[in-house]
Amino acid sequence: MKRTLIILGIVLIISGFTKETMAQIDTTWAIHDMRRPRPPVVMPAPFEQPTAPPSDAIVLFDGTDLSAWEQVDGGPAGWRVENGYMEVVPGSGNIQTRRAFGDVQLHLEWSVPEEVTGEGQGRGNSGVFLMGRYEVQVLDSYQNDTYPDGQAAAIYGQYPPLVNAMRPPGQWQTYDIVFRRPRFDAEGKLLQPARMTIFHNGVLVQDCVELTGPTAHRARPPYKPHPDRLPLMLQDHGDRVRFRNIWVRPLE
Ligand code: MG
Repeated sequence: MKRTLIILGIVLIISGFTKETMAQIDTTWAIHDMRRPRPPVVMPAPFEQPTAPPSDAIVLFDGTDLSAWEQVDGGPAGWRVENGYMEVVPGSGNIQTRRAFGDVQLHLEWSVPEEVTGEGQGRGNSGVFLMGRYEVQVLDSYQNDTYPDGQAAAIYGQYPPLVNAMRPPGQWQTYDIVFRRPRFDAEGKLLQPARMTIFHNGVLVQDCVELTGPTAHRARPPYKPHPDRLPLMLQDHGDRVRFRNIWVRPLE
Protein backbone atom coordinates (compact mmCIF):
# COMPACT_ATOMS: atom_id res chain seq x y z
CA MET A 1 0.00 0.00 0.00
CA LYS A 2 2.76 2.39 1.03
CA ARG A 3 4.73 1.47 -2.10
CA THR A 4 1.66 2.06 -4.28
CA LEU A 5 1.29 5.50 -2.73
CA ILE A 6 4.93 6.33 -3.39
CA ILE A 7 4.62 5.25 -7.04
CA LEU A 8 1.39 7.22 -7.36
CA GLY A 9 3.17 10.23 -5.88
CA ILE A 10 6.02 9.93 -8.39
CA VAL A 11 3.57 9.63 -11.28
CA LEU A 12 1.73 12.75 -10.11
CA ILE A 13 4.99 14.70 -9.77
CA ILE A 14 6.13 13.66 -13.25
CA SER A 15 2.75 14.44 -14.85
CA GLY A 16 2.69 17.77 -13.02
CA PHE A 17 6.18 18.52 -14.26
CA THR A 18 5.22 17.56 -17.82
CA LYS A 19 2.20 19.82 -17.63
CA GLU A 20 4.40 22.66 -16.42
CA THR A 21 6.87 22.29 -19.25
CA MET A 22 4.06 21.94 -21.81
CA ALA A 23 2.48 25.25 -20.79
CA GLN A 24 3.62 27.57 -23.49
CA ILE A 25 2.30 30.98 -22.55
CA ASP A 26 5.23 33.36 -21.99
CA THR A 27 4.55 35.24 -18.77
CA THR A 28 7.62 37.46 -19.25
CA TRP A 29 5.30 39.85 -21.05
CA ALA A 30 2.04 41.44 -19.99
CA ILE A 31 -0.96 40.98 -22.23
CA HIS A 32 -0.80 43.32 -25.29
CA ASP A 33 2.73 44.35 -24.21
CA MET A 34 4.21 46.87 -26.66
CA ARG A 35 7.72 46.19 -25.28
CA ARG A 36 7.56 42.62 -26.51
CA PRO A 37 10.00 41.85 -29.35
CA ARG A 38 8.38 41.81 -32.80
CA PRO A 39 8.28 38.48 -34.62
CA PRO A 40 10.78 38.41 -37.49
CA VAL A 41 9.37 39.33 -40.89
CA VAL A 42 9.33 36.50 -43.45
CA MET A 43 8.39 37.18 -47.05
CA PRO A 44 6.08 34.35 -48.11
CA ALA A 45 5.94 33.12 -51.70
CA PRO A 46 3.53 35.05 -53.91
CA PHE A 47 -0.05 33.79 -53.91
CA GLU A 48 -0.31 31.17 -56.64
CA GLN A 49 -3.85 29.88 -56.74
CA PRO A 50 -6.65 28.97 -54.35
CA THR A 51 -6.29 25.68 -52.51
CA ALA A 52 -9.25 23.70 -53.81
CA PRO A 53 -11.13 21.78 -51.11
CA PRO A 54 -10.37 18.06 -50.86
CA SER A 55 -13.18 15.57 -51.46
CA ASP A 56 -14.17 15.20 -47.80
CA ALA A 57 -14.27 18.92 -47.00
CA ILE A 58 -17.38 20.85 -46.04
CA VAL A 59 -17.38 23.97 -48.18
CA LEU A 60 -18.51 26.96 -46.14
CA PHE A 61 -18.04 29.59 -48.83
CA ASP A 62 -17.31 28.97 -52.50
CA GLY A 63 -17.59 32.58 -53.58
CA THR A 64 -21.24 32.57 -54.61
CA ASP A 65 -23.50 32.97 -51.58
CA LEU A 66 -23.74 33.12 -47.80
CA SER A 67 -26.20 30.25 -47.40
CA ALA A 68 -23.88 28.51 -44.91
CA TRP A 69 -23.80 31.65 -42.72
CA GLU A 70 -26.06 33.74 -40.52
CA GLN A 71 -25.80 36.79 -38.30
CA VAL A 72 -24.62 35.86 -34.81
CA ASP A 73 -27.76 37.44 -33.36
CA GLY A 74 -29.98 35.69 -35.91
CA GLY A 75 -31.17 36.40 -39.43
CA PRO A 76 -29.36 36.20 -42.76
CA ALA A 77 -25.70 37.21 -42.94
CA GLY A 78 -25.46 40.86 -43.94
CA TRP A 79 -22.05 40.85 -45.58
CA ARG A 80 -21.56 41.69 -49.26
CA VAL A 81 -20.79 38.97 -51.82
CA GLU A 82 -19.19 39.93 -55.12
CA ASN A 83 -16.42 38.79 -57.45
CA GLY A 84 -16.01 35.51 -55.61
CA TYR A 85 -15.46 36.92 -52.15
CA MET A 86 -17.49 38.08 -49.15
CA GLU A 87 -16.72 41.45 -47.61
CA VAL A 88 -17.46 42.83 -44.17
CA VAL A 89 -20.19 45.46 -44.23
CA PRO A 90 -19.09 47.61 -41.29
CA GLY A 91 -21.72 47.73 -38.59
CA SER A 92 -23.63 44.71 -39.90
CA GLY A 93 -22.18 42.48 -37.19
CA ASN A 94 -20.32 39.22 -36.83
CA ILE A 95 -21.42 36.23 -38.89
CA GLN A 96 -21.26 32.55 -38.03
CA THR A 97 -21.74 29.21 -39.73
CA ARG A 98 -25.12 27.55 -39.49
CA ARG A 99 -23.33 24.29 -38.77
CA ALA A 100 -21.38 23.66 -35.60
CA PHE A 101 -17.88 22.22 -35.41
CA GLY A 102 -15.43 20.86 -32.85
CA ASP A 103 -11.98 19.64 -33.95
CA VAL A 104 -11.30 20.84 -37.49
CA GLN A 105 -8.81 21.50 -40.22
CA LEU A 106 -9.81 24.91 -41.58
CA HIS A 107 -8.69 26.64 -44.75
CA LEU A 108 -9.62 30.20 -45.61
CA GLU A 109 -8.32 33.09 -47.65
CA TRP A 110 -8.58 36.72 -46.65
CA SER A 111 -7.48 40.10 -47.79
CA VAL A 112 -7.31 43.55 -46.21
CA PRO A 113 -8.12 46.76 -48.13
CA GLU A 114 -5.46 47.78 -50.62
CA GLU A 115 -6.02 51.40 -49.72
CA VAL A 116 -4.30 51.75 -46.35
CA THR A 117 -6.18 53.72 -43.72
CA GLY A 118 -5.74 53.74 -39.95
CA GLU A 119 -2.96 52.16 -37.97
CA GLY A 120 -2.29 49.52 -35.35
CA GLN A 121 -5.47 47.61 -34.51
CA GLY A 122 -7.45 50.00 -36.73
CA ARG A 123 -6.16 48.67 -40.04
CA GLY A 124 -7.80 45.68 -41.72
CA ASN A 125 -9.03 44.20 -38.45
CA SER A 126 -11.26 41.13 -38.41
CA GLY A 127 -10.93 37.72 -36.83
CA VAL A 128 -11.56 34.01 -37.20
CA PHE A 129 -13.21 32.69 -34.05
CA LEU A 130 -13.09 28.92 -33.69
CA MET A 131 -16.19 27.78 -31.82
CA GLY A 132 -17.13 31.47 -31.66
CA ARG A 133 -14.65 31.88 -28.80
CA TYR A 134 -11.03 31.34 -29.77
CA GLU A 135 -9.72 34.08 -32.08
CA VAL A 136 -7.04 33.90 -34.71
CA GLN A 137 -6.44 37.57 -35.42
CA VAL A 138 -6.95 39.00 -38.88
CA LEU A 139 -5.20 42.33 -39.33
CA ASP A 140 -3.14 44.28 -41.84
CA SER A 141 0.23 43.50 -40.26
CA TYR A 142 2.23 44.53 -43.31
CA GLN A 143 4.49 47.31 -42.07
CA ASN A 144 1.94 48.12 -39.40
CA ASP A 145 3.12 47.97 -35.83
CA THR A 146 0.91 46.81 -32.98
CA TYR A 147 1.26 44.65 -29.88
CA PRO A 148 2.63 41.29 -31.05
CA ASP A 149 -0.09 39.22 -29.37
CA GLY A 150 -2.61 41.14 -31.47
CA GLN A 151 -1.02 41.13 -34.92
CA ALA A 152 -2.14 38.94 -37.81
CA ALA A 153 -1.94 35.20 -37.05
CA ALA A 154 -1.72 35.84 -33.31
CA ILE A 155 -3.95 33.86 -31.00
CA TYR A 156 -5.33 37.16 -29.80
CA GLY A 157 -3.99 38.19 -26.40
CA GLN A 158 -2.13 34.90 -25.94
CA TYR A 159 0.42 34.00 -28.59
CA PRO A 160 2.19 36.24 -31.11
CA PRO A 161 2.89 34.42 -34.38
CA LEU A 162 6.35 32.84 -34.64
CA VAL A 163 7.02 35.09 -37.64
CA ASN A 164 5.21 37.82 -39.56
CA ALA A 165 4.40 36.14 -42.91
CA MET A 166 2.12 38.91 -44.17
CA ARG A 167 1.65 39.74 -47.84
CA PRO A 168 0.98 43.39 -48.75
CA PRO A 169 -2.57 44.75 -48.40
CA GLY A 170 -4.87 43.96 -51.32
CA GLN A 171 -3.25 40.56 -51.88
CA TRP A 172 -4.80 37.28 -50.81
CA GLN A 173 -3.55 35.67 -47.60
CA THR A 174 -4.16 32.09 -46.52
CA TYR A 175 -4.74 30.53 -43.14
CA ASP A 176 -4.53 26.79 -42.65
CA ILE A 177 -5.56 25.97 -39.12
CA VAL A 178 -5.65 22.75 -37.13
CA PHE A 179 -7.89 23.27 -34.14
CA ARG A 180 -8.43 20.86 -31.27
CA ARG A 181 -11.27 21.90 -29.02
CA PRO A 182 -10.96 21.92 -25.23
CA ARG A 183 -12.23 18.87 -23.38
CA PHE A 184 -14.39 19.13 -20.28
CA ASP A 185 -15.60 16.39 -17.97
CA ALA A 186 -19.27 15.86 -17.11
CA GLU A 187 -18.98 18.40 -14.29
CA GLY A 188 -17.53 21.03 -16.62
CA LYS A 189 -13.96 20.74 -15.30
CA LEU A 190 -11.27 21.37 -17.92
CA LEU A 191 -9.48 18.14 -18.90
CA GLN A 192 -7.54 19.41 -21.92
CA PRO A 193 -7.12 22.99 -23.17
CA ALA A 194 -7.78 23.93 -26.80
CA ARG A 195 -4.78 23.64 -29.13
CA MET A 196 -4.00 25.32 -32.42
CA THR A 197 -1.49 24.98 -35.21
CA ILE A 198 -1.56 27.64 -37.91
CA PHE A 199 0.13 28.22 -41.25
CA HIS A 200 -0.07 31.77 -42.60
CA ASN A 201 0.67 31.88 -46.32
CA GLY A 202 2.22 28.43 -45.98
CA VAL A 203 4.53 29.48 -43.14
CA LEU A 204 4.22 27.94 -39.66
CA VAL A 205 3.13 30.67 -37.25
CA GLN A 206 1.57 28.72 -34.34
CA ASP A 207 2.99 25.35 -33.37
CA CYS A 208 0.42 23.38 -31.40
CA VAL A 209 -0.02 26.07 -28.75
CA GLU A 210 -2.28 25.48 -25.76
CA LEU A 211 -4.85 28.22 -25.32
CA THR A 212 -5.27 29.71 -21.85
CA GLY A 213 -9.02 30.15 -22.40
CA PRO A 214 -11.41 32.11 -24.61
CA THR A 215 -10.33 35.30 -26.36
CA ALA A 216 -10.81 38.63 -24.62
CA HIS A 217 -9.38 42.15 -24.85
CA ARG A 218 -6.79 42.96 -22.16
CA ALA A 219 -7.69 39.80 -20.31
CA ARG A 220 -7.10 36.06 -20.31
CA PRO A 221 -10.29 34.69 -18.80
CA PRO A 222 -10.42 31.05 -17.76
CA TYR A 223 -12.27 28.36 -19.67
CA LYS A 224 -15.98 28.02 -19.27
CA PRO A 225 -17.52 24.68 -20.23
CA HIS A 226 -19.33 24.73 -23.57
CA PRO A 227 -20.79 22.26 -26.08
CA ASP A 228 -18.48 20.01 -28.13
CA ARG A 229 -19.57 21.67 -31.34
CA LEU A 230 -20.17 25.37 -31.97
CA PRO A 231 -20.31 27.64 -35.04
CA LEU A 232 -17.24 29.20 -36.63
CA MET A 233 -17.46 33.00 -36.46
CA LEU A 234 -15.98 35.81 -38.56
CA GLN A 235 -15.66 39.26 -37.03
CA ASP A 236 -17.01 42.61 -38.17
CA HIS A 237 -14.45 44.95 -36.61
CA GLY A 238 -15.50 47.87 -38.82
CA ASP A 239 -12.98 47.26 -41.63
CA ARG A 240 -13.81 46.03 -45.14
CA VAL A 241 -11.92 42.75 -44.91
CA ARG A 242 -12.64 40.09 -47.54
CA PHE A 243 -12.83 36.30 -47.26
CA ARG A 244 -13.09 33.52 -49.81
CA ASN A 245 -12.55 29.79 -50.32
CA ILE A 246 -13.52 28.68 -46.83
CA TRP A 247 -13.69 24.97 -46.10
CA VAL A 248 -13.34 22.66 -43.13
CA ARG A 249 -12.59 19.03 -42.51
CA PRO A 250 -14.06 17.88 -39.18
CA LEU A 251 -11.46 15.79 -37.37
CA GLU A 252 -13.62 14.00 -34.80
MG1 MG B 1 -9.86 40.95 -34.55
